[in-house]
Amino acid sequence: MSLRRARRLAAALLATVLLPSAGVAEAQTATAGAASAASTTVQPRRLIGCRAAGPSFRTSGWRGRRSVALTFDDGPGPHTGPMLDVLRRLRAPATFFVVGSQVRGREWLLRRQLREGHAIGNHTFGHVNVAGGGYSQMASTQGAIRRATGYTPCVFRFPYGSAGRGGIFQARALGMLSIQWDVDPRDWTRPGSGAVYSRVVSAVRPGSIVVMHDAGGNRAGTIAALPAIVATLRRRGYRLVTVPQLLLLAPRYG
Ligand SMILES: [Zn+2]
Repeated sequence: MSLRRARRLAAALLATVLLPSAGVAEAQTATAGAASAASTTVQPRRLIGCRAAGPSFRTSGWRGRRSVALTFDDGPGPHTGPMLDVLRRLRAPATFFVVGSQVRGREWLLRRQLREGHAIGNHTFGHVNVAGGGYSQMASTQGAIRRATGYTPCVFRFPYGSAGRGGIFQARALGMLSIQWDVDPRDWTRPGSGAVYSRVVSAVRPGSIVVMHDAGGNRAGTIAALPAIVATLRRRGYRLVTVPQLLLLAPRYG
């Protein structure tokens, strides 16, 4: 055996020895979350969701505090990763309203969203109009998100801005508030990053919820607008928060 080949073999053997131990460490962290709630010792607990409270239908938070929630619909998709890169650089938390049928094969993006401090919401399974009701569309998406992350959302967004009493009732039965918005730059029409920027910063008020998109088409303009949006809002004294934070919805740990 040549020296080069022997080195390659040694490296491969080392990898097979090291990788399983990394998996064990991850599993230990996960099971640590199951520690007794009665225990007074500080245990790392796992975020498993949030708790719906207050009115079932919301388009903004309290106007008395300079907080704003950026939200992104229709993902996860090919642009979600680059968008997360930008948000991480800006240290800006956001809320992603996920389409259930998009989750398969991109579960890691949802786990990354939670790991990096973002919140996840439900946006139906097939991006369909559920104004009159669509319990299975909502429930199957809850299942897809839960299987991917262990996290159960407490916020729901109707596709097409089409909210209705029946759908609001069903979302609440599944433990979710229905969250629309008060600022819409219509980024999905791809007006260019300058237009996305000016439409957002001219319309944001204290407590605003901004709707944008991380999937459903090319999102380069939305991504390019983010650094200036975040900088301007912060200069005006706004704090960026997730929707559950904006609405003071308590996190659930397991
Ligand atoms: Zn949508």
